[in-house]
Parts: sequence; structure tokens; C-alpha cells
Amino acid sequence: MNHTQDLLDDLINQARPFAIKGKVADYIPALSDQDPTDLAICIYSLDNTSFYSGDYMKKFTLQSISKVITLALVLMDYGEEKVFSKVGMEPTGDPFNSIAKLETHKPSKPLNPMINAGALAVTNMIKGDTVIEKWDRLLEFICHLTGEKVSYNEDVAYSELQTANLNRSLCYFMKQHGVITGNVEDLLVLYTKQCAVEMNCVDLAKIGAVFANDGIDLETGRQVISRDVARICKTFMVTCGMYNSSGEFAIKVGIPAKSGVSGGIMGSVPGKCGIGVFGPALDEIGNSSGGLKLLEMLSTKYSWSIF
Ligand code: GLU
Repeated sequence: MNHTQDLLDDLINQARPFAIKGKVADYIPALSDQDPTDLAICIYSLDNTSFYSGDYMKKFTLQSISKVITLALVLMDYGEEKVFSKVGMEPTGDPFNSIAKLETHKPSKPLNPMINAGALAVTNMIKGDTVIEKWDRLLEFICHLTGEKVSYNEDVAYSELQTANLNRSLCYFMKQHGVITGNVEDLLVLYTKQCAVEMNCVDLAKIGAVFANDGIDLETGRQVISRDVARICKTFMVTCGMYNSSGEFAIKVGIPAKSGVSGGIMGSVPGKCGIGVFGPALDEIGNSSGGLKLLEMLSTKYSWSIF
């Protein structure tokens, strides 16, 4: 027990110099306020115990990590056939916000749910008649997963909404091609709130643990995500979870993981634990510099690669 705590404390110290090599995201203006020296990790075991170290109290917004959660909700609501009629299953090799393949790839649907176009198409499917109903439904699901009352950071959501013109253009393109329906501004309000859901690395590790536990809640033993949906989500985390370095990450770390531009990374080691990492300074690809180092050292230490 103490051994794990000592190990995490040690890994944080070793990874700190890597953290400050990165740069905090600023294309969403409110994210540029984050402290680049922050670094935190939590391991949440399937026996419902957790270990954490570093700046683990710091809250951060999920950004792209939320895409995995929304996908799980929508897959459970509609099933694979309907969801994958709107979004594909293939990695793109393009930046997360690229519009390029939407035009060149036929049929005109986003290649996967982890890039922005695909995530917007998935968020568009959340059940509800109004933005408020859809948002309440998503937030309730997230609170179920963390077992805590979580909320969103209004400043970050607003800041993204004001500057999300690339996502806006992806939406209009997809609307033209029948991939999404409804009002684009409403969808952006919902998507930016989803991305601005805020928690610390302990909550994030707990969500990763539910996926690692085949969708079963650790406290109640309830199946909160179906086994099949948990499997699909973890597969996307492996193939497209770490932007354009998903391949390199699979080789060096080998843990299903999803990264966000806030510097969070959610890891899910099947049958073992969930991992929550936070370090807002990012590498050129958009992954947390310190977080990558932490996960690489941790996976090597415990031989956690699924390969
Ligand atoms: N809200 C961000 C966006 O759409 C999420 C990007 C990310 O974390 O990869 O640009």
C-alpha cells in the first residue's frame, strides 16, 4: 500500500521537469490561465481504493475526454447501428479539429467519435427535446460515474463558445450533409458545456475504473455502462484517444487512454484500475507532457501494457 503511494510521489517528482517543457493550450482563451507547473496523478483500483499524488486537488475541464463519456451514453441509448451510421470507426491521422476528411471521405461522415467532428455528431444525438434536457441527462450520467456531484466551468464553456468557429464550421458542413440535425448554436452550447465539465484527477480515475471494470460501478456493483459499450469505448481510446500519437502511445504505454487539451488524461487498465492524470502543459501534438511521462513510467513499472 505505502509502496504505491511512495511510487506515485516519486513518479511525480521525476515527471515534473517534463511537464514544464510543454505549453498550455490558449486557442480556448480561458484555458491559458492554467498553471503549467501543475502535475497530478490518481490510480483508482477496482477494489474501490485510490492513491494520488501531486496537485491532485486541482480541478480541470475534461475537454476531449468528455467525448468517451458522451459516446458511451449515446451508444447505450441508440445502439451501435444507429450511432455508427453517423460516425465511423477509423483513426484519421489528422489533427483533432480538421475538416479535411469530412469533404474527401465518402460517405460524408466523420471518421471517428474522438475527433471534434465525430464528437459533435455524437453530442447531437443525446436524448432530449431541449439543450437543458440533454445537458441534464449528460451531467446526471457523469455524476453517476464519479459518484460525486460534478459541474462545469462556466468561464471555460463561454470562452470556447465565443471562439469555436472551427467547430461551428464543422457543424454546418455536417448539417448540410445530413449528419447532424437541429440548431447549430444549440449544439455548440451543449458541446462546450460538455467539454467544460470540471473535476479533479481522482474523479477522472474513478471514471476510468468503471471502464476498466467492464462498465460496473465500483461502489454499487451496478452495470452503469453495458459491457459491450465499455469495450467499444476502450477500443477507441486505444486507436484514437491520444490524438496523432495514439500509435506511439500504444507502443510506449499500451493503456487505453483519452487525452484532452486541458492537460487531463483518463486511463483505463482493463481488470485493474482507472488512472487520472492532469498536467496542463502540452506537447506539440496536444497531450500533457508531464502526463505522458507519468503514464509511460507507471505502465513500465507495473507492466500494464495491454499488448
Ligand atoms: N473543446 C475542445 C475543442 O473542441 C476539445 C478539444 C480537445 O480536448 O481535444 O476544441
